[in-house]
Amino acid sequence: MAQKLFEQIALIGIGLIGSSLARAFRRDSPATTIVACARRPETLSVVRRLALADAITNDPAEAAEGADLVVIATPLSAYAKIGRRIRPMLKRGAIVTDVGSVKEAVIQDLQPHLPAGVHFVPGHPVAGTEHSGPESGFAELFRDRWCILTPPPGAAPEPVAEVRRMWERFGMRVVTMSPVHHDKVVAMTSHLPHLIAYTIVGTATSLEESLKSEVIRFSASGFRDFTRIAASDPVMWRDIFLNNRDAVLEILQRFSEDLTALQRAIRWQEGDKLQDLFTRTRATRRSIIEARQA
Ligand code: NAP
Repeated sequence: MAQKLFEQIALIGIGLIGSSLARAFRRDSPATTIVACARRPETLSVVRRLALADAITNDPAEAAEGADLVVIATPLSAYAKIGRRIRPMLKRGAIVTDVGSVKEAVIQDLQPHLPAGVHFVPGHPVAGTEHSGPESGFAELFRDRWCILTPPPGAAPEPVAEVRRMWERFGMRVVTMSPVHHDKVVAMTSHLPHLIAYTIVGTATSLEESLKSEVIRFSASGFRDFTRIAASDPVMWRDIFLNNRDAVLEILQRFSEDLTALQRAIRWQEGDKLQDLFTRTRATRRSIIEARQA
């Protein structure tokens, strides 16, 4: 049996990511005590039914008390309030980490609340689906995916190593980078594609009735793939765009310039330009498959 990862952990927020973590702990470090926290009784009763935790509470402070590791896995807008609540309960030497999809803004929200002697190791497991809630999680979610850690400058190495060990145990490949760099990378790889999907599905939704029903009826894989992405949780994605504003606006600017160039190529019948771009994008797909990220 592999070594226990932590004595006691608090999962504040136990939806898709939090419950996947709970399942991964149950499978790979079953002796770890899990305390789960969510606001709504419905969420907590699902957690109880699925036996995802040893104790449940709707109070983040109660969850954090005595924990060696506190994982914040809520929408980003809840971070500052949670930081204020857990502060008095964090034990000396505890590690606080998170799974948020944006790093710089949430570090600013959370870090001021963390007392001296508590280690902060922000993280982002780059793994997910369009589903939410504790029923949608699964332990294998993290397998062969990347996890990005963004420890603050001067962070003690051992807590960072412990968080890294945890994600590696669950099958992730772990890298560290600065929060600003992280936010730029995910603005391109994740946030812009979601924004495009929300826009395309939004455009289809606002078509006149007859056209809209035909679009839904004949939705070929192109449109259908966008609807899957655009079905992602509205609160989570609202928070992502509000918290990664600068990086998203910058990449969006570049995207709209490229879109204008394509518009122009179509207008002027410049088939070679279109074909050239589509050939390059096909090569990108091939390299993603080779990197086992497809
Ligand atoms: P989710 O399935 O919607 O779960 C969110 C959980 O947080 C629920 O258990 C919710 O339960 C709880 N919650 C919400 N507000 C809370 C508060 N103020 N205090 C305590 N609990 C609260 O969301 P998710 O997909 O797991 O995403 C969680 C985080 O992971 C987000 O920050 C997101 O950026 C990040 N992330 C998501 C993905 C993805 O693909 N989904 C991938 C990587 C990272 P109640 O409503 O009952 O409180």
